[in-house]
Amino acid sequence: MNHLTLTERMRILAEGTKYDSCNQSAVCHSFTPDGRCIQLYKTLLTNSCSGECTYCPNRCQRDATRTSLEPFEIAKITWSFYRKNAVEGLFLSSGIIGDAERTTERQLEVVKLLRGQGFAGYIHVRVMPGTPKYLLEEIADYANKFGVNAETTSSLNYSEICPNFDYSNDVLERLKWTRDLIKKKRREVRYGERIVGSNDTQFVVGAVFEPDRDLIRTVNKFMDRYALRRPYFMSFEPVPNTPLQNAIPSPKWRENRLYQVSYLLKDYSLKSSDFEVIFDEHGFLVNDDPKMRLAYAHPEYFPVDINAVEREELLMVPGIGPVSASRIMQSRPIMSEQELARMGVVISRARPFIEINGCKQTNLVSFLEAN
Ligand code: SF4
Repeated sequence: MNHLTLTERMRILAEGTKYDSCNQSAVCHSFTPDGRCIQLYKTLLTNSCSGECTYCPNRCQRDATRTSLEPFEIAKITWSFYRKNAVEGLFLSSGIIGDAERTTERQLEVVKLLRGQGFAGYIHVRVMPGTPKYLLEEIADYANKFGVNAETTSSLNYSEICPNFDYSNDVLERLKWTRDLIKKKRREVRYGERIVGSNDTQFVVGAVFEPDRDLIRTVNKFMDRYALRRPYFMSFEPVPNTPLQNAIPSPKWRENRLYQVSYLLKDYSLKSSDFEVIFDEHGFLVNDDPKMRLAYAHPEYFPVDINAVEREELLMVPGIGPVSASRIMQSRPIMSEQELARMGVVISRARPFIEINGCKQTNLVSFLEAN
């Protein structure tokens, strides 16, 4: 480990976060409580892990270069990126250093150090499965966001890919504690103080055979039960010298379609059962816009009159999102597609599903398309 330069260690540990956040670079994204997407410096404390997760490049039995960063080094690097405005904060995860308790203590060292130095940036901590409650409580005192990865949808699946942990106790129980801690923190927050973000978790898509139907049901359940707002999805890719090295990679589009469905669950108040009509016979999404497929699966709902329907019905129209739906409600009566376009409606997508004052609009482009 000692022969590696700081830059080499940083690179290895950023790559090691592959299954902890959205990509393998040293920068990842997170969402603030007001929905803003921000860039964070992303690293592991160490890629030495005592775990044996079957998909993971950091699993203990794999032959790989192992390294770590000291808490003071992570604090220093974070400050340096932050001062240059390259990032707005830190995303910190780790391989398991012996057990969850020891690992979380090290993570806490980093965040305490940063806050002790007056760091006001964003801190997102990916906590370990099985982290003790007292340490979660401490993390909540310093972090903007924290949570444990669920990885999959059931105890059975979890035992297949993460044999060292227990889904019900090490994951679900921690998601519950995190929900309660966030609630408590938000009750206590005073004006101008840091607001703790919502519960946080990630799924590895395709490491076990679980249809999208199960993933979407689980996300919906977590939103209801654990106040999850935005799940992260990471496509499984086989890693050499792991038990899943010959498994089939999950296509990137599947991850993207799952994100789209998760937005429909969160922002459009849909339920997992609403998507039953768009799965294939095995319970998987196809590579097509889920909202468009929902609309085509329900011809009885359309066309809707832009000036007559409730906001929920507007939201079901492809090309109309929460912001444009609100603008339409505030600006009625709407007289033309041009007005809708100015409000952010994607007319080419919405046109087959809308009427304006009882009339379907036809302009030169659609006339030419139709003829
Ligand atoms: S606990 Fe599992 S997923 Fe996390 S670093 Fe270790 S082997 Fe990888």
